[in-house]
Amino acid sequence: MSQTGPISETRSCTRDGEGRLAGAQAEGGGPEACDWARAVAFDQAHLWHPYAALGAPVWPVVAADGVRLTLADGRRLIDGMSSWWAAIHGYNHPVLNRAVSEQLARMAHVMFGGFTHAPAIELGRRLVDLTPAPLEKVFLCDSGSVAVEVAIKMAIQYWQARGRPAKHRLLTVRGGYHGDTFAAMSVCDPVTGMHRLFTGLVPEQVFAPRPACRFDGPWEPSAISAFADLISAHEDELAAVILEPIAQGAGGMWFYHPQYLREVRALCDAHAVLLIADEIATGFGRTGRFLACDHAMVTPDILCLGKALTGGYMTLAATLTTAEIATTIGQSPAGCLMHGPTFMANPLACAAAVASVDLLTASDWQIRVADSEGQLARELDACRGLAAVGDVRVLGAIGVVETRAAIDLPALTARFVEAGVWLRPFGRLVYLMPPYIISPEDLSMLTATITRVLSDI
Ligand SMILES: *Cc1c(COP(=O)(O)O)cnc(C)c1O
Repeated sequence: MSQTGPISETRSCTRDGEGRLAGAQAEGGGPEACDWARAVAFDQAHLWHPYAALGAPVWPVVAADGVRLTLADGRRLIDGMSSWWAAIHGYNHPVLNRAVSEQLARMAHVMFGGFTHAPAIELGRRLVDLTPAPLEKVFLCDSGSVAVEVAIKMAIQYWQARGRPAKHRLLTVRGGYHGDTFAAMSVCDPVTGMHRLFTGLVPEQVFAPRPACRFDGPWEPSAISAFADLISAHEDELAAVILEPIAQGAGGMWFYHPQYLREVRALCDAHAVLLIADEIATGFGRTGRFLACDHAMVTPDILCLGKALTGGYMTLAATLTTAEIATTIGQSPAGCLMHGPTFMANPLACAAAVASVDLLTASDWQIRVADSEGQLARELDACRGLAAVGDVRVLGAIGVVETRAAIDLPALTARFVEAGVWLRPFGRLVYLMPPYIISPEDLSMLTATITRVLSDI
């Protein structure tokens, strides 16, 4: 059996007594056998995966524990991705498992229209406590993209309520990523966000250059001048500035100077424009501070959280704002914020989030993230000398190796799997954002594999 390709898995799998697909190694397998090659063939014929053509390679995963993912053929991979910034405590965590199953035994879901429940209230309390004081009104959303939609609606409805409906556009910086729904897409980087596919369909927003000053480099006051010119030229039509504070994620994995964020905050105040901080990727400690805004001691008017909110267990996000914004919207002719998803504040997801937030706040995450940061900086430094590598940057538990030229992503991903690690590079970026619980030995496996694989391309 080949160990190289994702679709060559041929080991059989079984269903256990409760009907779950389980790996061939699992104990107590029932009689119903299936063939992973056929199962994967079905997937490739019928299921879309994120930003991938039908039929793109996929590896079947049957279990996950701590920082290890078990493939259907029994191979175990060290996870360098935290399932896209989310699984900060690792997989199959007993505390999170218990929180979800206890909630499941009580109530899986109930509509949030007209009802409330303990998991939502408990989560709301924690989010209000953990975020800067003016942020005290919480909207619980289904996903990060929806949290961004809600943030944008809040900003637009706020200016409508203030009698300034012309203030409905957004200013952002290039290199950002804010999600895949239409309003969120309109503020993603216009090139990597593929705006041209949707020209005329996504609202046209105002874009400043990507912040040029590196996080750990010197501050050059000229770095903010293009942004300053744009905000003053467009202030009468701008509802808000939206950006990922300090660390841009899927738009380019770029870390910029905290002074840039302080200047943005001051310019927003000077020009009566709201500031939306999209901390969906950076929140919950990933950059070394609880919020990336904390690097600059900046408080936004609207804050989006997601990804790690449930420790990677379920989809849930939150948009927080101030009493002033919420009250102004409430007193408008509309009378309320015009949003309300069917599965708003799903109790299972809220219970997972409460448990995840408590696990995090009770842990020594600051030390763990700082240790990962130090180790990533030391070990990825070896990549700097490689011919293929153009830049290496590290912030908190995020390590980025940028190559000079485009890389063959499917081939690279397959090489990583062969080497026993899970990494999902994009563009010219090979990056790591492991669970906070990763051991130094496992983290070394990840960095050494990146160095080795990049040294022969
Ligand atoms: C992932 C992400 C989103 C979108 O979240 P989804 O849950 O995928 O909709 C928005 N903003 C940022 C910064 C993100 O990293």
